[in-house]
Amino acid sequence: MNENETVYDYFNRPLRDLRISVTDKCNFRCTYCMPAEIFGPDYPFLKRNELLSYEEIERLSTIFIQSLGVQKIRITGGEPLMRKDVATLISRISKINGIDDIAMTTNGVLLPKYAKELKEAGLKRVSISLDSLDDHLFGSINGRGVPVSAVLDGIDAAAAVGLKIKINMVVKRGMNEHEIIPMAKYFREKGHILRFIEFMDVGNSNQWNLKDVFSKKEIIETIHHVMPIEPIEPNYPGEVATRYRYIGTDEEIGVISSVSDAFCSSCNRARLSANGTLYTCLFASKGHDLREIIRSTHSDQELADAITEIWNKRKDKYSIDRSKNKTERKKIEMSHIGG
Ligand code: SAM
Ligand code: SF4
Ligand code: SF4
Repeated sequence: MNENETVYDYFNRPLRDLRISVTDKCNFRCTYCMPAEIFGPDYPFLKRNELLSYEEIERLSTIFIQSLGVQKIRITGGEPLMRKDVATLISRISKINGIDDIAMTTNGVLLPKYAKELKEAGLKRVSISLDSLDDHLFGSINGRGVPVSAVLDGIDAAAAVGLKIKINMVVKRGMNEHEIIPMAKYFREKGHILRFIEFMDVGNSNQWNLKDVFSKKEIIETIHHVMPIEPIEPNYPGEVATRYRYIGTDEEIGVISSVSDAFCSSCNRARLSANGTLYTCLFASKGHDLREIIRSTHSDQELADAITEIWNKRKDKYSIDRSKNKTERKKIEMSHIGG
């Protein structure tokens, strides 16, 4: 990529990372993301014709990569493996000239079915979400009674086809902080990097309260007490997880501390929802409708110019300002924006 193709926002942050949500539907109802009371049978999920088609996503991805400096694409949702034939999309995106990395975030239960075709389509990495190794607890967190073994089978299926794997665990006080050590031990043994994520105030449905955030400091202390760890350097500038390793080994863990230790100053991510709305922050109240632009007769250059203008004006730093935001405002739900 050529330096001239980089676009910068108001605070001089480049655009490097694009997360694409391919569906707002999910086979789980995680309490911190899509609580079943709100995301019930009558919830107005997007209709088929509202979703960007794979052709439209490919066209936008090409513009983001070749004209705007994006290097990494992550496919997410909702549950991305619920969208029909998502391997076709991976295959199209992985062939775009200039892309460095393509990954997916999934709850993992459909991986035994799809891991092989995803790998063959060009997928490099998967982040698989799992919050507990206890069936009863996990079943109540995922809101559907899905057993832990369904996710572990997905992890094994991904490993068997050679996908690189990370495990994401959301930690919420009173919900699963006692699972930090069992999860750390289990995945250390398995050889997969485990990343702990602070419970975040995304959307307005998950009853978020600062008191429920089990902080990065607490997570680190919990682990260090049992298995001593030390910080290590980020892999690249702007990496969201702070990395640690078990002392005397090269086995590592990560912590994503969006609440207690904001990383807005290096945030280089844009998010595209399943209906083609571009968001410049995970905690945005509104986005920019690219579907309307892409469905009218605009050239790729016009699309690139429109996105450049959006990014140039970006002033988001929600996590830095969180404590100043005293009044609750409408925010986009996690299942829509894709995490
Ligand atoms: N369904 C897929 C999954 O669960 O991996 C992909 C979408 S999900 C929205 C992406 C990630 O966001 C998951 O790792 C999930 O645990 C995380 N997440 C959802 N709600 C969250 C919240 N309120 N705070 C922190 N992380 C959250
Ligand atoms: Fe579904 Fe992922 Fe949200 Fe859980 S975190 S409800 S699996 S989208
Ligand atoms: Fe980026 Fe917004 Fe998160 Fe800050 S709060 S790191 S700007 S997504």
